[in-house]
Amino acid sequence: MADQLIRATAANGGIRAVGVITTRLTEEARQRHKLSYVATAALGRTMASGLLLASSMKRAESRVNIRIKGDGPLGGILVDAGLNGTVRGYVDHPEVELPPNALGKLDVGGAVGHNGYVRVVRDVGYGYPYTSTVELVSGEIGDDITHYLATSEQTPSALIVGVFVDKQGVQAAGGLLLQVLPKAATDEELIAQLESRVQTLSGFTPLLRQNKTLPDIFQNLLGDMGLVILPESQLVRFDCSCSFERVLDALKMFGTEELQDMIHKDNGAEAKCEFCGEMYQANSEHLAQLIEDLQLQTQPLEIHKNSILF
Ligand code: ZN
Repeated sequence: MADQLIRATAANGGIRAVGVITTRLTEEARQRHKLSYVATAALGRTMASGLLLASSMKRAESRVNIRIKGDGPLGGILVDAGLNGTVRGYVDHPEVELPPNALGKLDVGGAVGHNGYVRVVRDVGYGYPYTSTVELVSGEIGDDITHYLATSEQTPSALIVGVFVDKQGVQAAGGLLLQVLPKAATDEELIAQLESRVQTLSGFTPLLRQNKTLPDIFQNLLGDMGLVILPESQLVRFDCSCSFERVLDALKMFGTEELQDMIHKDNGAEAKCEFCGEMYQANSEHLAQLIEDLQLQTQPLEIHKNSILF
């Protein structure tokens, strides 16, 4: 099944359900960043979570950033996902591999670490973004995002995300988010019912590997609760907004002196986009042009030497 996101409702609009398949985009991230198995699972789960969180936003340009920073060897994870179905992300130490955990599964919690935080930034495209930070619960990602939704957004939610990766690459990835909306949020019975149903699932990827579609999965979970599956399925993909122009803009921040140094010492400059791993080369002519641009600028330029982002 192609990478896609499908929405549904149940219980007369009291339950919102979203499912996403991210197998191909997780494989793309694995290849771009040369991710180990456990790093593939950690980043893949976070990317699926990002797309699920972004799916509830309203304005077309809305985006969600998830920053996870634990005390494990993987370092930090950063994911940027949009309501438009694009997602990108990286981990600090993509090469870290750990033996399987006690359940015989990829030890994502061990790699991420059990102590640390999850920070979620919701940006609707104007004004100040909404930022909230909660402590990590287990580092397994799904639990941590569920905890964030319950504490920061006060929306009772059940979320499962998963990645199945083997020697051939990512075989299945994605997740499900079930939320009890404010109109039904006081319905304790409904919340308990949803939680117990989600707990009966042994995970998300086993369902995909049994060739279950998202509508099949919704049907199994919510078929007797007035399920309505929205007809549109939205394609989701790995996509990065970096470009050579942005790299040049970032290089410009170094200022005339540093740029001249780059021309003399290295005959140019090389930059890598952290989000997608793309390498960009600027030659001496590009840098000379930047120096010329800088000299034409009448406004003083602020220099952020250590925080070049593009
Ligand atoms: Zn990029």
